[in-house]
Amino acid sequence: MSASYDPQNIFAKILRGEAGCVRVDEDEVSLAFMDIMPRAEGHVLVIPKTAARNLFDISAPELARLMPAVQRIARAVKSGMAAEGVVLQQFNESAGGQVVFHLHFHVLPRWSGVALRPPGGPIVQAAELEVHAAKIRAALAAQ
Ligand code: AMP
Repeated sequence: MSASYDPQNIFAKILRGEAGCVRVDEDEVSLAFMDIMPRAEGHVLVIPKTAARNLFDISAPELARLMPAVQRIARAVKSGMAAEGVVLQQFNESAGGQVVFHLHFHVLPRWSGVALRPPGGPIVQAAELEVHAAKIRAALAAQ
């Protein structure tokens, strides 16, 4: 039996405004914000507003409504961060590397010869994340 959705997870709290984030973009179905422990400068998370634990329990129509936001953010991360490429990562359940149990897509800008930082920290302060968020927001505005 699959595990259920826990409405006390940190991303649910961000969606409800009970926890802060450095917001990049929002639409009817999605929220994009800076990862607090970025594995690259400009590391963004895109989450659905619907309560989904991960890829296994979101409905296909809701997933289909989310993916244009993932594409939009990937394009903006690439151009706003002057990246050469972008990696998407999406983990499912603990054994699959998932730590926060609200579906999310990692959008990671990549440059040749620049390795990803290891997962799990350090935490980057909001003021520093904001510098990158501003560049990505500007790229979104130019799309
Ligand atoms: P995972 O579930 O393995 O995809 O990892 C969860 C991701 O969420 C990690 O990259 C964390 O750095 C990130 N994260 C955890 N808490 C927050 C938060 N409050 N704000 C932004 N990102 C977070």
